[in-house]
Amino acid sequence: PESYRGRKVVVLGLARSGVSVAKVFHALGANVVVNDKKERELCPEADELTALGISVLCGYHPDDLVTGQTALLVKNPGIPYTADPIRRAEELGVEVVTEVEVAYWLSPAPIIGITGSNGKTTTTTWIGELLKAAGKNPIIAGNIGTPLCEAALVASAEDWIVAELSSFQLKGTEAFRPKVALLLNIAETHLDYHGGMEDYVASKEKLFANQSSDDVAVLNWDDPVCREISARVKGRVLPFSLYERLEHGVCMEPPFVKGADDAKAVAREIVWRREDGAETAVLLVDELGLPGRHNAANALAAIAACLSAGADPEALAAALRGFRGVEHRLEYAVEVNGVKYYNDSKATNPIATTMSVGSLSAPIVLIAGGLDRGSDYMELLPLFRDRLKGLVVLGETRAKLAAVAELAGLANVRLVEPVEDAESTLREAVRQAALLAEPGDIVLLSPACASWDMFESYEQRGRIFKDSAHTL
Ligand code: ADP
Repeated sequence: PESYRGRKVVVLGLARSGVSVAKVFHALGANVVVNDKKERELCPEADELTALGISVLCGYHPDDLVTGQTALLVKNPGIPYTADPIRRAEELGVEVVTEVEVAYWLSPAPIIGITGSNGKTTTTTWIGELLKAAGKNPIIAGNIGTPLCEAALVASAEDWIVAELSSFQLKGTEAFRPKVALLLNIAETHLDYHGGMEDYVASKEKLFANQSSDDVAVLNWDDPVCREISARVKGRVLPFSLYERLEHGVCMEPPFVKGADDAKAVAREIVWRREDGAETAVLLVDELGLPGRHNAANALAAIAACLSAGADPEALAAALRGFRGVEHRLEYAVEVNGVKYYNDSKATNPIATTMSVGSLSAPIVLIAGGLDRGSDYMELLPLFRDRLKGLVVLGETRAKLAAVAELAGLANVRLVEPVEDAESTLREAVRQAALLAEPGDIVLLSPACASWDMFESYEQRGRIFKDSAHTL
């Protein structure tokens, strides 16, 4: 990063990560210009930077923002590559990266990079807890909480940066090289942004691009795309699997059987098999703090990552038992009239919803629907047919979901039309769900869709749901 002293660095997109990048380059003596298309009133972060003497331009993209003199453009991961300043940078051959790349340049600490379509936050948080229990110093950063650059600035060589990474962040990396790289799974989400599966997979695969045989690639052996990638990675592969008895890796003993019912009790152990054949039992899968096979997979991944970071397997069991998950991820909210309410607002695609429903055993009344990304949701048909007692739909996708439910032959379907505001509409959906549920049942908000058609965020949606359930 020192090579940017005295040179022009453009930071595109404010938000916390933009602020931290701007401060880094300003402190290094670069000539930093920050630009955001949002109006100044919507950029409260701007004041802090202006006070430091950094120039901040809001409300438009100036034509001369990126010129031949620009040495680097750091873009917010959410800004599409079709935005004018990025097009211009590419025309002029200006390097375009995301904050993750800059953090890598700065960090004295090794990085555990976690990506995948589903389970990132859960696994990242779990890895943090496990490493703490194993006496290491994890710093959780990236997509959750602290921007990576901030983490990199406070880290020392003895720490581990545990970074949740989206494909959007990874797409803008060049030299980024995590010591431990973890790919959880690949589902067909985010296709609208990436414009296709190929680009999405390629972005995820960038996690491994600069690894060498000193590094570890933790890969999901149950996921065909992850397996395919394993043939191309240069790091040492440490696979994990729920369904296969791996000769080397972290797996189940006996393995799960696909499609079989978990309720039939089998004492299943999580085991770690080393390349030399030595085997360590970590704990029984039923002892994990979180329910469901998807969380068992997250646990295997977290264990594999921690072992790769040198954690002692014996130190992990207590934190594997004690972990209670993260807000809005299959979070138990309250029991009202014998019905348990779960908030899974973070389930923003059909696979996440399928996983969540599959990990609960009582009859379920599902509340779903949200932003329409153009899918037909037919993949939810088996779930609607076999697992639901009732369905309440709202948001842009309500009619599509109701149509799938009709094909599935589900009888109890309620379509909630928008009332005066988003909050009232969701409250009405919770009331409808409560009417369909009987004592012993579960009402689950697991929308299978993003929240932006009605809400600011999935967090807001989840909080309104919990509050509605509490006040029923
Ligand atoms: P992410 O950060 O990748 O969005 P989270 O850990 O926040 O993932 O979990 C979001 C939702 O995805 C959970 O509520 C759950 O329904 C589902 N989920 C979690 N882990 C997995 C997994 N390994 N495979 C599939 N779905 C999962």
